[in-house]
Amino acid sequence: MSLAHLLQRQALAAPERPALFSGTAPWASYGQWAARSAALARRLRAAGLAPGDRVLLFARNHPRYLEVLWGAWWAGLVVVPVNAKLHPAEVQWIVDDAQARWAFVTADVAPQPLARLERQVELDGAEADALLAAGEPLDIEPRGPDELAWLFYTSGTTGRPKGVMLTQRNLMTMGLAYFADVDAIDRDDLMAYAAPMSHGCGLYAVPHVMAGARHVVPASGGVDPAELFALGRALGPLTTFAAPTIVKRLVDHAQAQGLVPDDAAAAFKTIVYGGAPMYLADIQRALRVMGPRFVQIYGQGETPMTATALARHHLADRTHPRHLERLGSVGVAQTPVQLRVADAQGRPLPPGEVGEVLVRGDSVMRGYWRNPEASAAALRDGWLWTGDVGTLDTDGFLTLKDRSKDLIISGGSNIYPREVEEVLLAAPGVAEAAVVGLPDAEWGEAVVAFVVAAPGAAPTAAALDAHCLAHIARFKRPKRYEFVDALPKNHYGKVLKTVLRERLRG
Ligand code: AMP
Repeated sequence: MSLAHLLQRQALAAPERPALFSGTAPWASYGQWAARSAALARRLRAAGLAPGDRVLLFARNHPRYLEVLWGAWWAGLVVVPVNAKLHPAEVQWIVDDAQARWAFVTADVAPQPLARLERQVELDGAEADALLAAGEPLDIEPRGPDELAWLFYTSGTTGRPKGVMLTQRNLMTMGLAYFADVDAIDRDDLMAYAAPMSHGCGLYAVPHVMAGARHVVPASGGVDPAELFALGRALGPLTTFAAPTIVKRLVDHAQAQGLVPDDAAAAFKTIVYGGAPMYLADIQRALRVMGPRFVQIYGQGETPMTATALARHHLADRTHPRHLERLGSVGVAQTPVQLRVADAQGRPLPPGEVGEVLVRGDSVMRGYWRNPEASAAALRDGWLWTGDVGTLDTDGFLTLKDRSKDLIISGGSNIYPREVEEVLLAAPGVAEAAVVGLPDAEWGEAVVAFVVAAPGAAPTAAALDAHCLAHIARFKRPKRYEFVDALPKNHYGKVLKTVLRERLRG
């Protein structure tokens, strides 16, 4: 078993089929891609890398990202894709923790050499040209299903990042679950890598290679709504993975340009969203402006892209009596996993009760790299403790409340920031909102809301307070409002609540 076989079988069956694009320009057919990855594999092994060794990727999105991923797997190596926005010191920490031997980088992301690597190869340079030129191929290095394929470093918003050990089986399972739970893939489809390839977007290369589909990296290497619409119109409707903030930008663009759902259909087949909460008002607007091209997934690095899915038909079924609750949920367990909302002992709770979300199945990580304590805390009796808190309804739909660490306890009552945020977002003039707890002598914690005003609007604390009083229990309403121009977010579009809490503490 090796993920490399996925590419090899496409290259054998249909070598001429277009596989990779850089913008609208063809980059490689399946035959060329496999030839390059197989030759790279031989050169990596000839340079002394042994199966199981780690190869770091610290680069902006690039077609060669995919050639290197598959080249490394072809040689039996483990890839370590790193968030391109990390500080050099953070990346160095990952290099050292992963004991990476080589790194593939782009100069914009890694202008300086990282320490303690044997080689740092610039993807746009002559060395990469030589390593990736077609040449004598390596036979695919056989791998066991539990051997590592990808070390996925968590975003580390609390403490040091941890290396999630993803195995060959984890990624195969994730790939197959895409077909069962997310979408059918036609081989003429185009997977567009606009969000970072080090994360969910890059992981979705696996099902798209399984299907022999086309892959495109936008010329900008990132998220530019106008570019993506144009790319989809030129090459064919795109499939992409986007955090809710990116979905918002696409919808804003469509609205500003006066586009209708038919225009969106010409540019996008499917937009899979996830990675952070999608607020009800935002998904309703997205469906109105861009039509039924959305699917939601909930997952985490520890069970990549695979915990639940909210299917296109669930999003579309407006006649269902619980349609709105379903829109606000993350859907039902994906095919390969079992899901449970549990009490502190791991016992399943009845529908409607709030507890921690546990997941078990073939997509769940083997553990954290060189971190047995963290592994033992996260994996108990085969269940992954996700750290997310939520409720299941009687139909099996999961609604996430928050990360357990973001829960606010004020005056002895639990307050889920997401609930307050949903209410604030429905108030006139609010574009974005994030709610955190601030230590408070009287209440234990006090609710504080950070609010970004919509363009041209100036909501006041008094108006927002009145709005909250009309919609939620008094004790949940913010005791303080901070009006800000933007919310701090990480490269994947997640709001950094730790940064907000630090700001409050000064
Ligand atoms: P990461 O491991 O960086 O992908 O982060 C995973 C975390 O993002 C999860 O544990 C959730 O807290 C959050 N998350 C992922 N998908 C969703 C979703 N669809 N809705 C709300 N939060 C999500």
